[in-house]
Amino acid sequence: TATIIDGKSVAAKVRLDCRARVDDLKARYGVSPGLAVLMVGDDPASAVYVRKKIQACADVGIRSHKFLFSRDEKQSVLIDKIRELSADPRIHGILVQLPLPKHFDLKEVLGAIDQEKDVDGFHLYNVGGLVVGGTVFPPCTPYGVMLLLDNSGVEIAGRNAVVVGASNIVGKPMALMLMQREATVSVCHARTRDLAQFTILADILVVAAGCPNLITGPMVKSGAVVIDVGINRLANGQLVGDCDFEAVRRRASMITPVPGGVGPMTVTMLLVNTISSAERACTQVLQAS
Ligand code: NAD
Repeated sequence: TATIIDGKSVAAKVRLDCRARVDDLKARYGVSPGLAVLMVGDDPASAVYVRKKIQACADVGIRSHKFLFSRDEKQSVLIDKIRELSADPRIHGILVQLPLPKHFDLKEVLGAIDQEKDVDGFHLYNVGGLVVGGTVFPPCTPYGVMLLLDNSGVEIAGRNAVVVGASNIVGKPMALMLMQREATVSVCHARTRDLAQFTILADILVVAAGCPNLITGPMVKSGAVVIDVGINRLANGQLVGDCDFEAVRRRASMITPVPGGVGPMTVTMLLVNTISSAERACTQVLQAS
């Protein structure tokens, strides 16, 4: 049976380090990192995520500022606010909670964020950085997965990595980060034929499809490291990932639970990106003076 990769405890360790970095910024520069969170509409799931992010900021000493817009707000109003925050030196991170209502042009909205404050890593500049390596802000969920792998001592270079899911926010950046670390990467998605023929080859299997029980025991190579990014709420209220946890656990060498695996890392990496941004801003000011 697989060892459980405890995302909660890794996240707690990283947050302790965040706290120390925030204290250091205050002591050295008199600066406290600031995050702006913009939310459009009142989607209940988004509201929960926003609340969690703001709470996490408070826990490590990051200032957060919440901006709410009604769901039929004009795009130009949202973009004007993003531009204003982009120019505000007290703000180091700007995050637009997704999804946006349909009448918004996502690329235009994300493109209005100063790339130096794009702590979600969704601006095209940061996406490009993922492709060529050395991106400024790695997107939080795959960044958190990389940290879990490193923290668990998983070797990446030369291993077969299979990513199930090819979304812009999880699957694609995940594949690029693994490729950057010299894994041999396959990306599967809803149109993939015979998913099992790919997953069975994976030394590292990252699943982010949003389908409960998509990955069953026989689809997993014996000894594989399995990272389950999926979050699904069953009819009975239970929260599960994309793997048949018990069956996959018997085949794998390591596995992340849901909840308590990737989830706690995602918000933590947002804190890391915001603090890194503030540190960069402080040292840039120093260099310029
Ligand atoms: P998405 O819906 O944007 O993308 C899903 C991807 O999975 C698509 O590429 C799709 O082609 C693929 N897919 C769907 N069904 C499939 C199937 N049967 N076989 C193979 N591939 C299939 O979702 P997303 O935003 O990338 O999120 C994926 C999952 O991860 C969701 O459950 C989401 O809740 C979860 N998630 C978790 C975190 C976290 O912090 N743990 C963060 C983001 C997303």
